[in-house]
Amino acid sequence: METPQSQTNDNNCQHRRGYSRGEALINNAPYVGMLVLGAALFVVGSLNSTWGWLLAGAYLLYGIAGALWIMIFLCPYCHFWNSTGCPCGYGLIAAKLRGKKSNDYFKKMFKRHIPVIVPLWFIPVLAGGFCVLTSFSWLLLVLLILFAVDAFVVLPLFSRKHGCVNCPQKHSCPWMAGKSGGEE
Ligand code: SF4
Repeated sequence: METPQSQTNDNNCQHRRGYSRGEALINNAPYVGMLVLGAALFVVGSLNSTWGWLLAGAYLLYGIAGALWIMIFLCPYCHFWNSTGCPCGYGLIAAKLRGKKSNDYFKKMFKRHIPVIVPLWFIPVLAGGFCVLTSFSWLLLVLLILFAVDAFVVLPLFSRKHGCVNCPQKHSCPWMAGKSGGEE
């Protein structure tokens, strides 16, 4: 569903950097890596049990649903909705799922909907940490460290230094608030 605002969205973004599909795929790598490592933690931590595989599957589904949630409930409020200016490609998919909403509500929607996916970062750490303490293995410890580095260092760095740094609404974005001062 197109609105006058959505029709001008690409025009608004023309002076900004556009990302190719290949770049969008690469930019999704840290998130995909986090989901795969998190799922692996459940399998290895449960000693390859059926429950471990079920939890790993549930975690992967949660990760996919979380991405869809952001596309449906946050991206329509973003400048990059229906634009190649979205670094991860969500903005283009979001345009097929829901019409454009006012950019003015982006900050409010960010605060409302980001908490939905935040547990993706912490559930594997808590579960993996518990398993390391109760049934230690080097493989489990390495997976836990890799997960933490990817989720808490690589992914945020990728977003802030690569994608979000070009975003016109970074000053109203809680993710970038306090991190972009003096850059412009
Ligand atoms: S930059 Fe973020 S909020 Fe904007 S369209 Fe892309 S994924 Fe959605």
